[in-house]
Amino acid sequence: MSLDSFERYPLLFGPSPVHPLERLSAHLGGARIWAKREDCNSGLAFGGNKTRKLEYLIPDALRQGADTLVSIGGIQSNHTRQVAAVAARAGLKAVLVQESWVDWPDAVNDKVGNILLSRIMGADVRLVRAGFGIGFKESWQQALDDVRAAGGTPYAIPAGASDHPLGGLGFAGWAREVEQQERELGVFFDTIVVCSVTGSTHAGMIAGFAGQDRPRRVLGIDASAKLDETRAQVEKIARGTAGLIGLRRDLRDDEITVLGGWAGDFYGIPVESTLNAIRLTAGLEGMIIDPVYEGKSMAGLIDLVKSGDIPKDSNVLYAHLGGQPALNAYSGVFQ
Ligand code: PLP
Repeated sequence: MSLDSFERYPLLFGPSPVHPLERLSAHLGGARIWAKREDCNSGLAFGGNKTRKLEYLIPDALRQGADTLVSIGGIQSNHTRQVAAVAARAGLKAVLVQESWVDWPDAVNDKVGNILLSRIMGADVRLVRAGFGIGFKESWQQALDDVRAAGGTPYAIPAGASDHPLGGLGFAGWAREVEQQERELGVFFDTIVVCSVTGSTHAGMIAGFAGQDRPRRVLGIDASAKLDETRAQVEKIARGTAGLIGLRRDLRDDEITVLGGWAGDFYGIPVESTLNAIRLTAGLEGMIIDPVYEGKSMAGLIDLVKSGDIPKDSNVLYAHLGGQPALNAYSGVFQ
């Protein structure tokens, strides 16, 4: 088996753009930092990392005769917004269970940003009271049963499209795309920095890069504030994906690195380093990142470069995984 033996439903414009962050690099005075932009990877509702993962799930859904994608996330889930967009694009319906994962006081939290976009795209959006968790949820089962009871054929997509046999393939493909772009740009990214929560973005990258000749560090920054669970999930998906794409060796433990220290105490609640990272990146580069995910991974990158953990002669690739629509629900913290 190889990645190419899996059918892909094209949703992206093509390879996502890679560009240097010159002013941020100069400001930090260390490694040279670049970004690869999943936030502008497609024309589908502001893009993001899930769109790339869904390229491999949609053929499976269509093969099964599904007419409705059923998925789950927090109220400001980027994932469910991308499921709504992909459903629209593929001519399918979407049922989205939106749980109150984040105890966030903003009065418009359930009205603006991602959830607004999902409603505009015609998804059946269901608000449910339940805490953060990436595992199996009763409300999701209920949504699947409801679709069946109404005579439909649901296709179940777990939180973040992660705990799914095909969930890691999209970012195994990302690793191959990076190698190709490195050849074109004449650069080698020895360090990748990526935000990790439901795990299959980071895990897919690990599996994809493991099959390449030149080793590099793929540093996951936990944004869930549940480091052990994130690591376990990344490891499980990385090993599963490596098997699927035909990696001819076992992954080593030291290839699975999930770092804590930047998530704060809770998923979805930005801390000072998150807000500083958002302002710094916006002010130096005009590059917008969000307070739930990328603000936390960028805070990690900044500290790792400043401390020299990522050495001065490194070329770092920051995976920008999208997520900006959620900023609308966080206007209060930027006043
Ligand atoms: N960044 C953004 C913007 C996201 O929406 C997500 C989704 O959870 C992540 C990072 C983390 O990716 P993953 O859930 O695959 O670990």
